[in-house]
Amino acid sequence: FLTQYKPRENSLADKIIVITGAGDGIGRCVAKTCAQHGATVVLLGRTQAKLESVYDEIEAAGYPKPAIYPMNLEGAIEQDFSAMADVLETEFGKIDGLIHNASELGPRTPIANYSAVQWQKIMQVNVNAPFMMTKALLPLLDKSTSASILFTSSSVGAKGRAYWGAYAASKAAIENLVETLADELDGTSKIRVNSLNPGATRTGMRAAAYPAEDPTTVTEPEAIMNRYLFLLGQESELINGQHFDAQPK
Ligand code: NDP
Repeated sequence: FLTQYKPRENSLADKIIVITGAGDGIGRCVAKTCAQHGATVVLLGRTQAKLESVYDEIEAAGYPKPAIYPMNLEGAIEQDFSAMADVLETEFGKIDGLIHNASELGPRTPIANYSAVQWQKIMQVNVNAPFMMTKALLPLLDKSTSASILFTSSSVGAKGRAYWGAYAASKAAIENLVETLADELDGTSKIRVNSLNPGATRTGMRAAAYPAEDPTTVTEPEAIMNRYLFLLGQESELINGQHFDAQPK
């Protein structure tokens, strides 16, 4: 069903969807696609100019007016996320979707050489920040009639591989967090939480991880957007605690 899903034109109408890492790569494409399907998107990221260019494209296309929330997840602490929740509460009163897409690859190096400083940075951006953001936004997600939290995993989240270091550990942690939270929400909440592994996708991160690869041989973000639309839309309302692959492995 995930790969065969054909979204209706306005499948995300009236939904407020927060997307982290919305300025580039997959997140940029997800933001525009959600807006195209009627959602009001909150563009979160660390590079304001990139967020502004996504904003401009969405506005020029005539989709619902988005919002920009600049934030560097690297230095973010719990108060930053409660401040974010306050702003979103005032502005929108609820959230229907939270897409944890931002993450950092970090060094591709053996554990024996892995810098502890880098390790902490990757765990902060890829795990700690999404945890704190989710915790802070749960009350707003609870105000939706049907909310979807979507975490982004990777194939190294299911099984570690040499030289993937903190990135692999961070994705494994994310999958476990999904399972824990899903179990807590199950039967007691209208919020669902799942993870999606985009698979090899043509972005800056992919090029950094595989510098010798010809990017034209790699799937474009546009090709996997229906997976995101499915997991955010009404048709996935009863799906909770699952890990999905956007492409065949
Ligand atoms: P990109 O590196 O192309 O984009 C990542 C986005 O996240 C950028 O907009 C970046 O901001 C933002 N970001 C990074 N660090 C921070 C931070 N500290 N604070 C705020 N924003 C930040 O990555 P992809 O689009 O390729 O990846 C998106 C997701 O998909 C990630 O979770 C990745 O792990 C996952 N994934 C990707 C695969 C692929 O083949 N592309 C395969 C498997 C998983 P800025 O633009 O300012 O750098």
